[in-house]
Order: sequence, then C-alpha cells, then structure tokens
Amino acid sequence: MTRREELAEALAAVEDRIAAACRDAGRPRDEVRLVVVTKFFPRSDLDLLVELGITDIGENREQEAAAKLADGGVPSGVRAHYIGQLQSKKANAVTRWADVIQSVDRPKIVAALDRGAAAAGREVTALIQVNLDERAGAHRGGASPAEVPALAEQVAASDSLRLGGLMAVAPLDADPDPAFARLAGLAEDLRAAHPEADWISAGMSGDLESAVRHGATHLRVGTAILGTRPSHR
Ligand SMILES: *Cc1c(COP(=O)(O)O)cnc(C)c1O
Repeated sequence: MTRREELAEALAAVEDRIAAACRDAGRPRDEVRLVVVTKFFPRSDLDLLVELGITDIGENREQEAAAKLADGGVPSGVRAHYIGQLQSKKANAVTRWADVIQSVDRPKIVAALDRGAAAAGREVTALIQVNLDERAGAHRGGASPAEVPALAEQVAASDSLRLGGLMAVAPLDADPDPAFARLAGLAEDLRAAHPEADWISAGMSGDLESAVRHGATHLRVGTAILGTRPSHR
C-alpha cells in the first residue's frame, strides 16, 4: 500500500467514526471540523492529506512547524492550528504561520500574540486552553476554569486576535465524559459574555466520540490518521 492509500484508508475510518458520533448525538456532521495533527510527520504527509481534502492541520512544536511550512508555506485553503505550549519568546514566530492558536493560557501570552499578529499584519483566532484535570501533578496545560473570563476579556479587547472559544485535553487515564461535560458548561458561560466565541476544541484519537457528544466543534486527531508517532518527545 502506498502512503497515500494508507492515509486515505485511515482518514475514511475516522470520518466514519465522526459521522456515527454525530448521528448518535443528533448533531449535523458539518458542525464538527476535523483538525489533523501532523506533528512528528513529514511535509509530504501534510501534502497528501491536503490532496485527500483535509482543510485544517495542527502542529504542537513551533520549530518543527516552521521548518515544515518553510517550503511553500501553509498550503492554500488550509487553516494551520497551533496546539502546543506557548512561550512568550516564541509567540511572535507562531503568529507568522498559524491561523488559529488553540493553547492560549495566560495574560503574558495574549499580549505577546497580539503584538506578533499585529507585526505580521494578520488576524489570528485564539482559543483559551482550559485545564480540566485539577489532580495534583496531573496538569496537561491550560488556564484554570476560574481564569477563563478574564483571559477571554483580554483576547476580545486585543486588536489583532479574535476570540474563538475554548480548547481542552481530557485527563489521562480517566473517563473523558465528565471532563468534556464540564468544558461544555464553561463554553456556555463564555458564549453568554462573548456570543461569537462558539468553538469548542476537544477530542483526540481515543475520545472523539465523547467530545462530539459534549458539543465539540473541532476535533484534533493525529494517531488514528497518521499512525503512531515516530518518537515521543
Ligand atoms: C498530539 C495532540 C493531539 C492528537 O492526539 P492523538 O491522540 O494522536 O490523536 C491532540 N491535541 C493535542 C493538544 C496534541 O498535542
């Protein structure tokens, strides 16, 4: 099997899962967008995915993404999402290529991204990443739920960032349903203050059905489409 056939087959299987999850949840399929996480995989895979109709890609390491996108940039018609941890020093660099930054989690980062986006002359969509796992030592990144309203105000008031909504990763080794239910409640609170911020990015290869059940608008799927990552960090 060629790599293209391999990716097409895996993509079709994931599409089937998303369609079934939407059906079970009574939601239209077009409410849910698939972001394919291409981290650790080469540019050639990204190009094959675009040929196969993928419109959204996700990367979580700034240097790797910049190198991968250096040749020819982000393919036209494709939205690039940054889903990794952010350092304020690197924020500038991310705003050069990312259309969406899903991992905004503190005031200093909002300010740095706003400056970067302004310097690049672009409007960038920002999602606030929420930490849904408050067990000691279990932190998977993100602001605490209590910090979301103030961060949202800051993003909404910035010149070059558009407030898109929320992002979260389910707790490791735990049922994702209660976590994604909590995220849905936080997203509802956010929309009460910022009606335009209606994105919920949740759900990965292992838990996309639960995310769809709880209102996810964006799924971030890597392994189920590209295979096991060559190395873990
Ligand atoms: C790597 C990554 C994913 C994709 O995870 P898979 O289990 O490979 O589907 C999703 N979200 C974030 C934040 C990631 O870093």
